[in-house]
Order: sequence, then structure tokens, then C-alpha cells
Amino acid sequence: MSKTDLPRFHLLIPAAGSGVRAGGALPKQYTKIAGKTILRHTLDKFMQIQDLIKSIRVVIDPAHADLYHDAIAGLAIEPPVMGAGTRKQSVYNGLQSLCHPERSEGSLDSSALHQNDIILIHDAARPLVSIDSIQSLLLAMTTEKAATLVAPLADTIVGADYTIHDRTKLNAVQTPQAFIMPDLLVAHNRFKNDDSFTDDAGLMAASGHNVQLVAGERTNFKITTAEDLIMAERLLGNTTETRTGFGYDVHAFDPAPADNIRLGGIDIPFTRKLLGHSDADVILHAVTDALLGAIGDGDIGQLFPPSDQQWKGADSAIFVIEAVKRVHAKGGKIINIDITLIAESPKIGPYRGRMLTRLSDILQLPADRIGLKATTSEGLGYTGRGEGIVAQAVATITLPTTSS
Ligand code: MG
Repeated sequence: MSKTDLPRFHLLIPAAGSGVRAGGALPKQYTKIAGKTILRHTLDKFMQIQDLIKSIRVVIDPAHADLYHDAIAGLAIEPPVMGAGTRKQSVYNGLQSLCHPERSEGSLDSSALHQNDIILIHDAARPLVSIDSIQSLLLAMTTEKAATLVAPLADTIVGADYTIHDRTKLNAVQTPQAFIMPDLLVAHNRFKNDDSFTDDAGLMAASGHNVQLVAGERTNFKITTAEDLIMAERLLGNTTETRTGFGYDVHAFDPAPADNIRLGGIDIPFTRKLLGHSDADVILHAVTDALLGAIGDGDIGQLFPPSDQQWKGADSAIFVIEAVKRVHAKGGKIINIDITLIAESPKIGPYRGRMLTRLSDILQLPADRIGLKATTSEGLGYTGRGEGIVAQAVATITLPTTSS
């Protein structure tokens, strides 16, 4: 059977839980991993087979309406259904909204609902379900009234008294679970006041229906704990990307005699200083441009124009601190900075330790992630003639991957 022959279905996602067991401040379905909320990852997975989907409804807690609308921005799905105290009751509300669309705020075409309509119920917190698994489940529904994905157990299962349960006879129940709509509704009505059921396949089995077990994948786990969040984020992959930025700066020596020169955020004794609108710290300027380059955010001249009087004589640490702030604002992390100073003099060797300490402070980066080297240009060119100093810097950062 090809994909186009698979039955079309209504999708219901109960997401009214307030479970914050995963450790975050938000209900887990609205926790962001790999750039999107868990609910959005789940919905986007189903959108890959949207030609098979007749309608999508998410059951939410009314208190989460804003979180929900942010999470589904740009998706064309039916309006949410308001949940209730238990998952079972929330699913029931979802079924009601499908059977009696006029009762909800939605505009579902009720003529789309038939006696043999299939409904898939899927946990919001299982974003890692595979398209293959969903298709296997749908294939089972061409002959069955109820089916659920299950995963094999890898660990030996024992009771508190170390009674070993034969794991080859046991399965871990997952979602989606698929049902013929009217049969599921009958089962829900039959056990309306029984809150002992934790899933819908259980209701169907208790009603005497065969529930077809369809082999799923262990990666389709339900995100429950903080550890699950980390695993899911890794499996969703490519959570960060690496960026590199390059900075280059030159300043000429002031012909007037001086006592100090500003380099790498500190004053070191020297007979000449550099000319510039700010403190002319050529190292910090190159570092600033390297960081801005890595996030594609212009350059030091755009952010701090020399025409602006407020930067006259400014401590260039301000520029670096602003660039670091911009990296952090994008969720970025500086991995390392490598700097080369090109000058015949002064020799920076005796001051290198102090410079590194200062750079480490300004960059909020351990000193062992900062390279600071100096070289001459062997008497060649303007640096060789002692007319000025050049600094080059390379910054490597990571940024969260934003593409979906
Ligand atoms: Mg400069």
C-alpha cells in the first residue's frame, strides 16, 4: 500500500496538562527545545503528512491560551478545545468538539465526519514520533477498529520483590493511538465516570475491542523528566551552529611624546600612544569587529561612529562589552578568540598576563580560550617603519540553530 492509499484521519492532541515535571517553569508542552516548543515540534511532524489529515485539534488549558497561540503561530489548524481536569476528560471534550463542531468556536465542516472516520490521539510531549510509525499505525487501521504504537522493552522488568516479568510478553504503550471515531466515543461514554484509565486504547480494550499493537520506535518517548528534555534536544539534532568572525584594525602613532599606550584594555609604559577618536585600543577594536562579524551585526564604526562625541576618548572595553552582549542576546556562546598584534614595538611580552586577565574580564571568557600573540613585520611596510600598529582577531562562537 502506498502512502496515498492510507486512510485520512482527524488528529487530536491533548495538551491541557500543567505538568512541569521536566524541571522548567513552563508546562512541558510549551518548553522550547531546539528552537521550538515541544508542542510545535509535534505539530510540525504531523504537518509533514498533512495531505492525510482531515482536521487537527489541540486540547488546551484556557490559562495557556497565549502560550498556545505563540506555539502554533502560522499553522492553519482548527481552534483549540478547552480541556478539563483529567486527560481522559480532555480527550472527551476533544471528541465532543469533533462530533458537534457547532458547540465549539471552530468551523469544522461536520459533513467531513463519517461513521468510519479515524481519529489519532497523540501526546503533545512525543515530538519524536516518526512518519514511518504513523504510517504503520494507519495501515493497521485499514482492518482494525483500534490500534496503538508500542515499543519493545529492553530492560529486564522486576517487581519490588524481584519477581521477573517476561519482557518479551510486555510492551510499552505509546501514542499515537488510532480509533474508529464512533467506537471510541461509545467507549468513552461507557466509562465516563471511571478515572482509572490512562489511555484511550485501554478504554477500547475494556469495551471488548481488539487493540492492534503496532511496533513503534523507542525514540518516540514521552518527554517527562529534565533528562528526557536533554535526550530529545539531542535527537532533534543540530541545536547549535558554529560561526566565525574576523576583525582587523589599524591605528597610527601620535607624533607627540607620551608615557603610556593603551593595548588589550590596559595602559603599558611606552613613549608614544596611538591616534584615535576613542582610546585607540587597536586590540579591542579588532576583537569587537570579530564578534560582530560572527553574528552578522555590522561593525564597530556603525555601532560607535567616530562622529559621535560620546565616544571621544572612550574606554574601548565598552565596545567589546556591547558586542559580547549582542552575542549573548542571540543565545550565542563565545568559544574562543585569537588575536595577533603586528608591531615593531612596544614588546608586549611583560604585559601579556595582565592583558589576558583584562580581556578575560571584558569578554567573560576563561583566559585559556583567548589567544594573544604578537609579531613584527620584519621592518616592512607601515608597521615595519613604526608608523602604526595592526591587530587582527578571529572569534568562534556557537548560536542556536534557528531554521526549522
Ligand atoms: Mg579602531
